[in-house]
Amino acid sequence: MRWRRKVMPRKSIMEPARRLPVTGEFDVLVAGGGVAGVSAAIAAARNGAKTCLLEKEHVLGGLATLANVWVYLPLCDGYGHQVIGGLGEELFKASVKYGRGEVPSCWRRGGEKAQRLQHRYQTDFSPDSFAISLDEICLRAGVTLMFDTRVCSTIVRKGRIEALIVENKAGRSALTCGAVVDATGDADVCHLAGERTAWSDDNRKACWSYFAVDGRLVRAHPQDPPVGKIPRGARTYRGDIPEDVTEMNLETRRMALRMVKHLRHEHETDDVSAVSLPAFPSFRMTRRLVGVAELRGEHARQWASDAIGMTGVWYMKGPVYAIPWGCLVGRKTANLAAAGRCISAEGKAWDITRVIPPGVVTGQAAGTGAAIAAGNGKALADLDVPALQQQLKAQGVLLNRKLVEQSLEY
Ligand SMILES: Cc1cc2nc3c(=O)[nH]c(=O)nc-3n(C[C@H](O)[C@H](O)[C@H](O)COP(=O)(O)OP(=O)(O)OC[C@H]3O[C@@H](n4cnc5c(N)ncnc54)[C@H](O)[C@@H]3O)c2cc1C
Repeated sequence: MRWRRKVMPRKSIMEPARRLPVTGEFDVLVAGGGVAGVSAAIAAARNGAKTCLLEKEHVLGGLATLANVWVYLPLCDGYGHQVIGGLGEELFKASVKYGRGEVPSCWRRGGEKAQRLQHRYQTDFSPDSFAISLDEICLRAGVTLMFDTRVCSTIVRKGRIEALIVENKAGRSALTCGAVVDATGDADVCHLAGERTAWSDDNRKACWSYFAVDGRLVRAHPQDPPVGKIPRGARTYRGDIPEDVTEMNLETRRMALRMVKHLRHEHETDDVSAVSLPAFPSFRMTRRLVGVAELRGEHARQWASDAIGMTGVWYMKGPVYAIPWGCLVGRKTANLAAAGRCISAEGKAWDITRVIPPGVVTGQAAGTGAAIAAGNGKALADLDVPALQQQLKAQGVLLNRKLVEQSLEY
């Protein structure tokens, strides 16, 4: 009989320390190339920072492109007032540059103002066309792009991130920086740097996809549980647990197969196949920063003296929110700002700020703030906010106290 060593189950294992090569030095590192990260990187580069955008996938856009999201939600309040400009509007135009979709005619220069009450400033877009535009716009701004590169650790000294540790085909290396924007959607950098974070386990299975039916392209967006309140006991998912991420991916593909069967039945043809499934798990809210400030549902119509942008509500007309700078910065790490769906917004406000337009708004503010902080070495939480607001306004961001306070109530 062969002798077998008895293996005791281990709770942890020691990783030996190792010396890493420094493969880049940047003023601003942006982690995550979704719409928020793209916005942050462009803003940082345009404000003079040597900027690198780190993306673990091979395409820019994150959920907006890789999970087949095809609606750029509104830049207006539903009552004819535009509430988002700057990069929010620039990326809107980029999303339709190579078709499909267009800027609604009433929202173009000289467009019929009365029509703006009927038609919200939103559009359909092609995820792939949008991804191509995002490459172009980043390169034009002078952003260094690094695909296939995952941020997996932080080197924090005296409350500042000195370097991000990344892994890619070349192995593990360090990139040094003046400031960092966490646009990972999952607050990965905040979590790694020891900032306080919160999570949601309320994600439904979703499968925004394209199918070919008799050679025609058909879009479908099955979801389980369906829209509305999540029934008690329904299986929902957390985006920061590996087992949930894996099951969500497998379930998404099972949903696609059920949709193929459904379309065959509905269109009375066997010529149905899936042509573009989400290449990215469709989690809406995973992990987020708990920042210096926290945006809440009841903050609708309330101005914030440190507002860095505004947003309407994607699912209804009326209320306008001011997004405070304090929702982008944490209490521990001086040179780290969050952007996109992982900013400090709770409950209803998280659901409102997690979509494309406000994601781009917070990206522009985080990137601009990071460029300033990388230049003067100040903590992002102590930034001269009025100066930041002036800079943002000069770059097209809309900040209008009256519009927020006089927006209609729920
Ligand atoms: C099913 C579904 C339908 C939706 N429908 C709409 C809609 O119709 N309209 C709309 O406006 N919004 C919609 N949304 C929401 C919206 O698309 C996203 O919330 C928004 O695009 C988020 O952008 P983001 O940049 O903050 O995050 P993400 O899109 O998640 O981008 C994060 C990026 O960071 C990268 N990343 C993550 N971790 C790391 C790491 N450690 N290192 C390097 N890179 C990393 C990811 O690969 C990704 O590219 C929908 C969302 C879902 C799930």
